[in-house]
Amino acid sequence: MARRALVAGNWKMNGSRDSNASLIHDIVLDVRKYPDIDVLVCPPAIYLESVGRQLEGSPVQLGGQNLCEQEKPGAFTGEIHGGMLRDVGCSHVIVGHSERRALYGEGDDRVAAKFRTAQICGLIPILCVGESLAERENGQTESVLARQLQAVLDRCGIEAFRRAVIAYEPVWAIGTGRTATPEQAQQAHAFLRDRLARSDAKIASSVRILYGGSVKAENAGALFGCPDVDGGLIGGASLKSVEFMAICAAAQ
Ligand code: PEP
Repeated sequence: MARRALVAGNWKMNGSRDSNASLIHDIVLDVRKYPDIDVLVCPPAIYLESVGRQLEGSPVQLGGQNLCEQEKPGAFTGEIHGGMLRDVGCSHVIVGHSERRALYGEGDDRVAAKFRTAQICGLIPILCVGESLAERENGQTESVLARQLQAVLDRCGIEAFRRAVIAYEPVWAIGTGRTATPEQAQQAHAFLRDRLARSDAKIASSVRILYGGSVKAENAGALFGCPDVDGGLIGGASLKSVEFMAICAAAQ
């Protein structure tokens, strides 16, 4: 099945009002050259509203980097409810990024709860999964991916993947400059799709699976050329407009 590519920029904890304005200015100018792909930016929460305002009238979509798993707003100091992300114009939200899993102790159950809450709030979750270097070297890549995916399947069911995106992000490739080879990426993506197909082949063939981990203009074409790679989740390279737009060109 032909899937429309998605290129999503995860700005992480980077940016300022000035640098955001200049980055978005460049992206908005250029994005119309790539009508066949979806483009998404995920700025830090505090800048979502201003970036969203600047994106008005452009096809670039807005996403959060995280949300609270609580289904109802309330006394959860410092947290952000999915409804608030919707309120400022987000269509998507990243859940289970490896930095959240490793640095903030988010386990599979919590990630699954966030996935569910995102959908309840009308957001499309981008579920990040991926193995560490030690897990890869121990031959555990597939069991880790299966476990991370299964936690969401158990809580939300296969139907939930009709409105969701998966990002395969090997932890050893994130921010390291070390990218998975197209063969490694394809193998992991095909594995994930096959796991979903055990429950529903049609949903499995329609879900977009992005690759993330040191994607740059120079390696994007080869990665996006793999049959099960439907675009990318881009960290560092999404902060430079020329690089980010070159990645979009590779996905077009
Ligand atoms: C990420 O943070 O999701 C990511 C893929 O980062 P980078 O592209 O910098 O490796």
